[in-house]
Parts: sequence; structure tokens; C-alpha cells
Amino acid sequence: MDALNKIRAIVGPQGVVTDPAQMPAYLVDRREYYQGRVAMIVRPRSTAEVARIVQICQQSRIGIVPQGGNTGLCGGATPDASGTQMLLCLSRMNAIREVDPIDFTMTVEAGAILQNVQEAAAAHDLYFPLDLAAKGSCQIGGNLSTNAGGNNVLRYGNARELVLGLEVVLPDGRVWDGLRKLRKDNTGYDLKQLFLGAEGTLGVITAAVLRLFPKPQGVQTAFIAVPDPAAAGRLLRRARAVSGDAVSSFEYLSRLAVELVQEHSPGTRDPLAQTYRHYVLAELSSAGREDHLRSMLENAMEAGLQAGEVLDGVIATSAGQRAELWRIRETVPDAQRSSVKNDVSVPISQVPAFLRAADELVQRVAPGARPCPFGHIGDGNIHYNILRPPGADAVHFRKTAGGRLIEEISRLVMQMGGSFSAEHGIGQLRRDFLLTHKQSSAIDLMRAIKAAVDPAGIMNPGKVI
Ligand SMILES: Cc1cc2nc3c(=O)[nH]c(=O)nc-3n(C[C@H](O)[C@H](O)[C@H](O)COP(=O)(O)OP(=O)(O)OC[C@H]3O[C@@H](n4cnc5c(N)ncnc54)[C@H](O)[C@@H]3O)c2cc1C
Repeated sequence: MDALNKIRAIVGPQGVVTDPAQMPAYLVDRREYYQGRVAMIVRPRSTAEVARIVQICQQSRIGIVPQGGNTGLCGGATPDASGTQMLLCLSRMNAIREVDPIDFTMTVEAGAILQNVQEAAAAHDLYFPLDLAAKGSCQIGGNLSTNAGGNNVLRYGNARELVLGLEVVLPDGRVWDGLRKLRKDNTGYDLKQLFLGAEGTLGVITAAVLRLFPKPQGVQTAFIAVPDPAAAGRLLRRARAVSGDAVSSFEYLSRLAVELVQEHSPGTRDPLAQTYRHYVLAELSSAGREDHLRSMLENAMEAGLQAGEVLDGVIATSAGQRAELWRIRETVPDAQRSSVKNDVSVPISQVPAFLRAADELVQRVAPGARPCPFGHIGDGNIHYNILRPPGADAVHFRKTAGGRLIEEISRLVMQMGGSFSAEHGIGQLRRDFLLTHKQSSAIDLMRAIKAAVDPAGIMNPGKVI
């Protein structure tokens, strides 16, 4: 029996995708930059099945591309075009194995959808803070493999900081059972950190123990117009100080970003009566009383108004209004799908200087192109996206000016002590840039780790390193 038949026998007919109509959902990436071909798409149901599959692939030297919700933005979950790789989709392994309210943990399988994880925590009056616009389809395995960021990093950290334990099928088919709930464990290297953010290049994450938090009892959300990004930085500092560090989200939107959402979702109303060039969506949350939180937010906005950091603003008065403010923010990525994308970070203090320099750079490289920055300004993470000049063709613009714009923006952030991939990762999209621009000692170390863990190079070949 050849390798593929053996794998088919392990997962059964339900565990293999053969219908050509279903293939594009697996083989084309979210941005439609890449189209892969595969020998097989497999959907195992258990860690034991994954282990047996990986062992067969190791013996037959078949490249394995793990895939979660396929919402990644760097082509990391898309196979190459050779037709020889195998796509390993984790979506059938979606059980929430346990919620432990004493340990404040949840043990989940890799294919659990993020929103389901959030809801399972909420059902126990607990909170899992990882939150991003793709939450309805991205999966925990993908979130951890990309070390996802999102809207609450300011308060709770990236995905990496929300994991206590991990179960991983290693490239030789052995299972590393690191599913522990410990807050303290200094017994040598912290192995789970190797796999978090590795984008499937070192093994297949099959389950995880996640950290939970008390569910915030109070949440207050405001949409605020600010004179410029520097004022936004000062307002953040003020809001953190007056609220006892209760700021959980602090998101920036340019006017253009809001207008694109209105074009994309007709009927979207401006949250403020007048229009302004710069906005922030700020959210405070705490276990304390709602009215206290509201007065803290009002105080911060009032003081910000006096100090020239705030021009205008509205605080949501209902859950519906809060949801509407978040909908505007979360629709921005889809409203500008055809733009040239940059996911960069700089120290928070450097955001205004970065935006000024980047705007100048765009006009030099592609006159008439329109920057449309938005994102997690409270983390120094800006999605510095660039729209084609009016009247230009989007695909042509991306293929001609896009490469140079991304290259030069990436160089700019590196000169400013920043990162050219803040939260989306490397995948195949940023691999060449990583290999040529990251410190050679870091690349050597990454290659050494890859060679030690996956000597046959079967795990997600052609990605990251
Ligand atoms: C509208 C929108 C908004 C987004 N907002 C954010 C945001 O705010 N912050 C952010 O960080 N990202 C964001 N993203 C990007 C994306 O949602 C995240 O990267 C997410 O974590 C990917 O999860 P996924 O399950 O879709 O992974 P996939 O896209 O399926 O895979 C991503 C990578 O992880 C690997 N992988 C997947 N599962 C496993 C596994 N079980 N074991 C090993 N490797 C695995 C894949 O091989 C691939 O390299 C956004 C995307 C969209 C479409």
C-alpha cells in the first residue's frame, strides 16, 4: 500500500477531501495571492491519527502543510504548486476538553474556532481575551502557530502569553505531551515557545491549555476624534493613568479607513456628527463597577479635550452601539482587501514619526497612492495599507509598485527599531525579506533549530525559514 492509501485508511472516507468544488477553500489563501496543489487533503479526528499520518509522511518524505481556518495573511497555510505536499486540516479536532475555573484554564483541541473558545469561557463566567476580526473562522491551532495579536494585546499580551501548555505531534510522529496547567515551571527550556509562532514549520499543534481570566463585569467603549497620531499616544497614556490601567483596546482609524467601510457596507453611519482625519476606538474593561469605568473614561476624554488631545468623541450607551463601533473597526480589513498591505510595528512613541516618514515615502515611490493606516496603535502595530491612485487598476498597482512599497516600508520600520511583520507572521509572503534582512546570527539560529527538530524538512516546507 502506498503512503497516501495508508493515510486514507487511517482517517476513513470522511477524513479526506476529494470533491473538486471544495478544494479552493483549502488551496487558495485568504488574500488570493497563492494557489496550491496537493496530493491529498486530510482531516484527522485525533492526535493519535495525526501522529500516524506524520510518521508515514516522514518515512515517505511528504511535505505537510498544517491548516486551521485559512485566515492567515501570509500564505503560510497554502501548499506549493508541485502537487506533492499534503494539506493537514485540523478543523475536525475541535473539542473543548475542559474548562477549569479554579486553575483559570481551558484545554482545547487545535481545530476549535476562536469564537467558540471565547463563548465557552464566557459560559463559565470566565474570559479568553484573544480577539480578532477573523474570530468566527480562525482556529486556536492557527492562532498559536502565528502568535496572533489582535485587539486586546495592550492588556493581555499576544497568543504566546495566553498559553500554559501544549500538545504537539513532532516531525518524526512522536507526541510531545506538554499539556500542563502550571504557572511556574523552570525545568529547563520552555519548549512550548518553540512551537508558538512557528507557523507549522516545527510540528503540528494538536491541543493547548489556555489561560483564562475573570470576565470583565464592566466594559466602556468610545469612538474619539484626535488631532493627530501623536495626540492619540498622549491620550493613551492619560487613559491608562486615570483608569488604573483598565485600557484593553486602543485602535487607530484614519478617515479614509472609515470611508472605505462605508463604501463596503452601505448604511454604516459616522459615529460622530462631524468628520475628522484621525480617530481612535478606545475600550476600558474591568472587574469593577460599570459606572466607575464610565466616569474614568469620561474624565480621560474631558481632560484630553482640555489638553488638546481630543477633538470630539462618543461613548457607547448600549451593547448595540458598542457592537456597531467595533463593527466599523473590524470591517476595515475586508473594506480594503485590494490594497498593498504592511503589518508593521515600532515603539509606540515612534508611531507618529513612522506615519509621517511612510506618507512621504509613498508619495515619492508611487505619487497619488493613498495610505490608509489603521490598527493596534496601543501596541505600536499599524497596518499601513496603501490604496492605488484613483483610477488605477488594483492588481496592476500591487504587482508594479506594491513590491517596492513593501520593501521600502519594511526597511523604514527596521531603521526605526521596528518589525516588518508585527502579528501576521512570515509564511511565504515575507520569507525572502526575512532571509535577507534579519540579523544573520538570528537566521543561523533559526536554521539550526529547524534542522534539529525537523531534519527531513517535511514540516510546512518553503515557509518562514
Ligand atoms: C479579517 C481578518 C482580520 C485579522 N486580524 C488579525 C489580527 O488582528 N491579529 C492577528 O494576529 N491576525 C489577524 N488576522 C490574521 C489571521 O486571522 C491570524 O493569523 C490567525 O491567527 C490565523 O488562524 P487560522 O486558524 O486561520 O490559521 P491558518 O491561516 O490556517 O494558518 C496560519 C499558519 O499557522 C499554521 N497552522 C495552522 N494550524 C496549525 C496547527 N494546528 N499546528 C501547526 N501549525 C498550524 C499554518 O500552517 C500557517 O502557517 C486577521 C485575518 C483576517 C482575515
